[in-house]
Amino acid sequence: MAPPFCYRIAVPSPLRRLFDYLPPATPGDTLKPGTRVRVPFGKRELTGLVIAAANASALAVAQLRPVTAVLDAEPLLPDELLTLALWAADYYQCPIGEALAAILPGPLRHGEPLPETGTWHWQLSTHGLGLPDTALARAPRRQQLLALLRLGPHSAAQLKHAGISATAIRALADDGLIERVRTHPATAAAADALLAETPPPLHPDQAQALAAIALHGYHAYLLHGDTGTGKTEVYLRAIAQVLRQGRQALVLVPEIGLTPQTLSRFTQRFHCTIAVLHSGLSGGERARAWAQARDGSAGIVIGTRSAVFVPLHAPGILIVDEEHDLSFKQQDGFRYSARDVAVMRARGAEIPLVLGSATPSLESFHNARAGRYRLLRLSGRPGDRAAPDWQLLDLRRGRLNEGISAPAVQAIGKALAGGHQVLVFLNRRGYAAALLCHDCAWIARCPHCETRLTVHMTARRLICHHCEFRQSLPAVCPGCASANLQPLGQGTEKTELILENLFPGTPVIRVDRDSTRRKNALNEVFERLHAGEPCILVGTQMLAKGHHFPGVTLAVILSADDGLMSTDFRGGERMGQLLTQVAGRAGRGEHPGTVLVQSHYCDHPLMTTLLRQGYTAFAEQLLEERAATGMPPFRALALLRAEARDPRHAEALLTAARSAGEALGQPVYFLGPLPAPLEKRGGRYRFQLSLNAGNRATLQRLLTPLALVLETLPEARGVRWSINMDPQEMM
Ligand code: ADP
Ligand code: ZN
Ligand code: ZN
Repeated sequence: MAPPFCYRIAVPSPLRRLFDYLPPATPGDTLKPGTRVRVPFGKRELTGLVIAAANASALAVAQLRPVTAVLDAEPLLPDELLTLALWAADYYQCPIGEALAAILPGPLRHGEPLPETGTWHWQLSTHGLGLPDTALARAPRRQQLLALLRLGPHSAAQLKHAGISATAIRALADDGLIERVRTHPATAAAADALLAETPPPLHPDQAQALAAIALHGYHAYLLHGDTGTGKTEVYLRAIAQVLRQGRQALVLVPEIGLTPQTLSRFTQRFHCTIAVLHSGLSGGERARAWAQARDGSAGIVIGTRSAVFVPLHAPGILIVDEEHDLSFKQQDGFRYSARDVAVMRARGAEIPLVLGSATPSLESFHNARAGRYRLLRLSGRPGDRAAPDWQLLDLRRGRLNEGISAPAVQAIGKALAGGHQVLVFLNRRGYAAALLCHDCAWIARCPHCETRLTVHMTARRLICHHCEFRQSLPAVCPGCASANLQPLGQGTEKTELILENLFPGTPVIRVDRDSTRRKNALNEVFERLHAGEPCILVGTQMLAKGHHFPGVTLAVILSADDGLMSTDFRGGERMGQLLTQVAGRAGRGEHPGTVLVQSHYCDHPLMTTLLRQGYTAFAEQLLEERAATGMPPFRALALLRAEARDPRHAEALLTAARSAGEALGQPVYFLGPLPAPLEKRGGRYRFQLSLNAGNRATLQRLLTPLALVLETLPEARGVRWSINMDPQEMM
């Protein structure tokens, strides 16, 4: 077949387009989409990815340059994944070349070959195959080995598990009866699918959930069960069935969820190779795990966010654990949501998708109610422990020491004296702050829309993020004339220090995104906790996930108010998730747990619903609120952000973007430009323009042409801008 006229190639560049190149000078087969190539780009040479062959180009032949080299004999990205990546780049408004570069492990992005994979296996040689069954009757061990290998290739680990000694293996190898091969990867998963342990019998809820999960075709399930109700066990059972079909399982976990404890649940259960992908790996390690997933030598792939884009040889099931977790949304560059991409992927690959959580996101609840996901509820408690004792501490007029009330200090002291461990939850970083009167709990509201005003410290103003109303910061509370006005969510950085001062000699361990960036930092923390010494663990929301803290009997939530009073519309949802998840942490061991919640609004209706009726009722109440206010999941949101050293430049770009957007005539509401709640960062002023539409498709019809306009606006010079589709945090 004659080569095509040219190829359309994605090149790592901020431009939202593909580039045309002529076929390579040395003739060869037509390049398939997903193949890596080297191409000249300006004065440089870059690694790009073939997206399509084409018979014409907008450019004249003389202007086109040929592909310099072809790097892959087989496409690096299977069709299924390439289609997904192209959709995601489009949907999240990310330049295609940047999106593709973001999903490749470093070495592959730079054009290096795929690492060798496959595990060595023993199989019968032709000589061995010819032996009669009874040949080694006098050496039972060796005969057992022959019998095993008649069933198929086995890895050294499997043989060891079957009780075959290294001596027996060596003896047969020396006789030329068996040989070592890299197994055909596609069969490795199937051959390896033998369980390494006997699973416990399922509880009725679990059995029902497992039976409901259909393993053929696309179906989405929302597995809702409190921490410890046995969700992971359901995943493991479903995975076993998938492995038996010779297919692979992809499991996504939040960043903090990928601990050695989690991994060991999988390695203890299955013999097959498990590829692990997370941000702490070196490029080489990532490339290797990637190659194992791609050629099928890994039966299971477990990874954080970016693993949703790992190529799979034979996809069989996709699982997203703690689906509500914020870490599934990439916050910069390619701003995709791994959870939402997982839905598209499962649909495209025609495999089941299981979203699991103790506190499902409102998006997923909504999808379940609309019939798009099937809701599977686990209510039993395999771990069988009492629900914790909730205690609300009213903060009004009480004395606070950097956010900690006297009764809370007492409770912490008592728990420590009893030899127990304590968890203290800080306010999530990055919440937009509202202005609160500590004495009477007055909160600054917009006179026009009754929503809470956002504090902008730099400009000393209060701004309404719904109607753009602005006023200067009041000096005293309009309700009680107290001067004790403070922005919520401030001053928490000092909590660690305060606790150290209050409890000298007690270790205070801080866990947040910064303190755990180092590889293994988190595991060291968990090891210390499991050692059982009394200590105080101070953490952000990230602490509230999937970990077993048997020594913890008291959890203190310093303030539920940032959630209740957040100017971020997701604040309430996050607060409910935090409280519910924390309740799943405390008192896992033999001691019952107490959860202390400090608040200025102890009788807030959301709080009452959550504590009296539980998370589902709470979520339903919030959904009604979202429907009434026209927010996701009932409508779609995007956030356009601009940052510049000169605030006027950032604002001017967004003003221009708004006019350009309005000219496109889509039914989309614009709000802004407004200073971002987190107004200044790294010496740059940040502004945002938010877009709200009836559905995502409408928003897409506006954003796609708007992004191209933005690339060419003169106001864009010197301004960093980005589009965040389905933003998870409004800062
Ligand atoms: P989740 O993922 O919902 O937090 P897990 O699957 O981790 O729950 O289960 C919690 C604990 O209960 C684990 O120690 C697990 O081994 C155990 N477990 C789960 N299912 C069963 C079961 N059917 N029988 C006995 N123990 C179980
Ligand atoms: Zn007041
Ligand atoms: Zn307003």
